[in-house]
Amino acid sequence: MVTILHDKDADLNALRGKTLAVIGFGSQGRNQALSLRDSGVNVIVGIRPGKSHDQAVADGFNTMSVKEAAEKADIIHILLPDERHSEVYDADIKPFMKAGKTLSCSHGFNIIFGQIKPPKSVDVIMVAPKGPGTEVRKAFVQGFGCPGLVAVHNDASGKAKETAMAIAKALGLTRGGVLECTFAQETYEDLFGEQNVLCGGLVDLMKYGFETLVDAGYPPEMAYFECVHEVKLIVDLIYEGGIQKMNSVISNTAEWGEYVNGPRIITPDVKARMKESLKDIESGKFAKEWMHEVHVNNCKTLLAKREAIGKHGVEITGKRIRSLFEKK
Ligand code: NDP
Ligand code: MG
Repeated sequence: MVTILHDKDADLNALRGKTLAVIGFGSQGRNQALSLRDSGVNVIVGIRPGKSHDQAVADGFNTMSVKEAAEKADIIHILLPDERHSEVYDADIKPFMKAGKTLSCSHGFNIIFGQIKPPKSVDVIMVAPKGPGTEVRKAFVQGFGCPGLVAVHNDASGKAKETAMAIAKALGLTRGGVLECTFAQETYEDLFGEQNVLCGGLVDLMKYGFETLVDAGYPPEMAYFECVHEVKLIVDLIYEGGIQKMNSVISNTAEWGEYVNGPRIITPDVKARMKESLKDIESGKFAKEWMHEVHVNNCKTLLAKREAIGKHGVEITGKRIRSLFEKK
């Protein structure tokens, strides 16, 4: 059984008198910076010129180059896209990784796959909200918390966990509950979840459902409602009260169909392939291929796939339907 930590297990005093640099001001960066500041943390923002920079200025943050922020801060919280950490770290952060500082992140990818190698004299921690930045912020503003994970990779000061817990508290994560884990657990589980269930698995399941109905001559608008739109309604019920709660709300016919047809569609060989996928993640094969795509292929395949999905019927239909509904 893992221990779930709450507000009483964390002390914001661990951040008193310290400067925390948020590096990157995107989905996590902006939303985490706003909550950290609201919690009384001395936040500076390290960001290159551009859209994010302008947003940080508009939000009233003390904004500077990544280099300057890394030099000034006691805690350097890197919230750049994972595939860019290593180049920014090597050029702008590494020179300032002096003993006594803390390197922090929200996903363990770069530490686990050796893209960043911080010196032994610094604390290395992770505070990972389990949700998109906007949702984490929304929960904070509403007085709730998004659940999160904390992990310590290197404890040079003997206080690394206190620092991580204080950041988790300042983000509102301890209001909901925080699990302590290792960098490896977070990294492998996160990649597995997004590839097999949340993003990869779900998108392909919805696409196949949509395509099957449309191929059989059903109107795409109806197929979209059935196979995409309603996913949210079903997932909300599961989120609220589990699978049984969802089953108690849907019709008996739908529940029977779930029992007899679910295992026919998602067969045991799907699980066997999930196991292979987990092995590829744990062995570093996935990370190696992804880094090759970024640094050697310049994201060409990624960009081509991004363009292709925009041309799929499910996206074209969805766009049209959502715009019609928004007008009402
Ligand atoms: P985003 O892509 O939303 O934001 C990236 C930010 O980094 C932008 O402000 C961007 O600025 C800046 N940036 C990109 N490249 C550079 C560069 N070379 N030099 C300086 N700044 C740069 O990232 P996310 O918020 O999605 O992810 C940040 C971290 O949070 C990752 O480690 C991710 O795994 C983790 N995380 C993300 C979650 C999510 O739901 N998104 C959930 C939990 C963790 P510009 O506007 O100039 O491009
Ligand atoms: Mg994730």
